[in-house]
Amino acid sequence: MEQIEYDGRKHTGRLLKYSRTGLKVFVRPENKGAEITNSLPEVQKIKIDPLSLDVVTNVSELKFLPSRRLEHPLGVIGLEFPKMFKRGKIMHYGGTILLRMVKMKKFQPILRLFTAREKVETDPVKVKEMIKSYAESLGYIVGVTRLDRRFVINHDDKIMPYDTVIMLGMEMDFNLCEEIPNPGKKLWDFETYRKSSLMVWHVARYIRKMGYQCHAIISFEGSIKFVPHAINAGLGELGAQGICITPQYGPRQRWCMIGIDADLPIDQPKDYHVADYCDDCLLCIKACPGRAIHKERIWYRGVLKRKNDDTKCFPFFRKYEGCGICIKVCPFNRYGYAACMEEWKKDGTILGKSDAKKIMESL
Ligand code: SF4
Ligand code: SF4
Repeated sequence: MEQIEYDGRKHTGRLLKYSRTGLKVFVRPENKGAEITNSLPEVQKIKIDPLSLDVVTNVSELKFLPSRRLEHPLGVIGLEFPKMFKRGKIMHYGGTILLRMVKMKKFQPILRLFTAREKVETDPVKVKEMIKSYAESLGYIVGVTRLDRRFVINHDDKIMPYDTVIMLGMEMDFNLCEEIPNPGKKLWDFETYRKSSLMVWHVARYIRKMGYQCHAIISFEGSIKFVPHAINAGLGELGAQGICITPQYGPRQRWCMIGIDADLPIDQPKDYHVADYCDDCLLCIKACPGRAIHKERIWYRGVLKRKNDDTKCFPFFRKYEGCGICIKVCPFNRYGYAACMEEWKKDGTILGKSDAKKIMESL
């Protein structure tokens, strides 16, 4: 696909030329995932006009977050790096994750050339089952959906060349999460980034050995929003703190993605009643030290949600080397999804809400 200057930016797409009129039209690839997002129960319930989602997404584009922070003089370089460097965490986490990021970006296009010539299985249902059970054996929860290109940064369609994407969620350690906000030697989220960025490489290799081309994107990379895709793949629902809540681990997982050159059957989004539960709970909103989570839902990028305010969150994220208090206090994290739902459906009880004050004081 060609790169073209459009709207003052470079985009990937096709430029159609109509020779008789000299007219040029820029065409992005078909956005196969948009329909799934647009039909989500939450989007339907509040009757968002899918067109407005498109328009607002285009107006307020996704930006590559790490690079934006690096640009800021008081951002990662100014404050976070020296502190973490002193504690030996930059080399331990930053080094390995950056190396894996580079490895994924630079080597994967070459590895596509080494995809097995013979497909070991051609039935898409069986292909999906094989990939799913292999990824699950490595510790992932797995769902399949189509890429919604509105959630790819800077409209860059070459970041993910395939429309079918496999979402892989890896659990974060419960005990490390309990150490929040005073992490010891290990960082609860970066431990998962490290492990997941290694495991996703194995899953991608397995897919190539099956005879299918693919492209993996690790957690922390930031070029595609993973949460909407995890929700579209039926793995969970958006919680008030902006995290995908799953029945397996609540808010305590990190995502990565593999795009595959195969039309695998997709999983349907499910209504887990998380939005209604959150309306009765609001614990994360009360516990957030930066008051970064809006109490009321606001319109943001075409979606009515409790938007996190990055500028209020980041100082605490830096101070606590990852913060995550909104994850720690979440009843789905502490008691599990099944127990929370059982009590709530019985008589509206929110587990842990009565001792919320104790939890906050212990932070
Ligand atoms: S990470 Fe911390 S500061 Fe950020 S939203 Fe969660 S609780 Fe608030
Ligand atoms: S703490 Fe409560 S309001 Fe926040 S995400 Fe969890 S369930 Fe929802």
